[in-house]
Amino acid sequence: MIKSDKELCLYCGACVGTCPRNCINLKETIIEFDESLCTKCNLCVRVCPVGAITLE
Ligand code: SF4
Ligand code: SF4
Repeated sequence: MIKSDKELCLYCGACVGTCPRNCINLKETIIEFDESLCTKCNLCVRVCPVGAITLE
């Protein structure tokens, strides 16, 4: 399961741009992850400046 913490997220879009599978969608203040496409590569977790994304 992959998710972002709404309290921490700055909605900067960095995670969206870094995902090689295009599975992150950001619309205003809503982030959605398409888990069927996610390969758990961890790139979005590493790029997030505030550590808002967690992979479980
Ligand atoms: S773990 Fe990788 S594939 Fe999954 S959402 Fe993050 S960047 Fe995309
Ligand atoms: S990189 Fe982090 S702070 Fe930026 S939109 Fe993604 S989850 Fe939010």
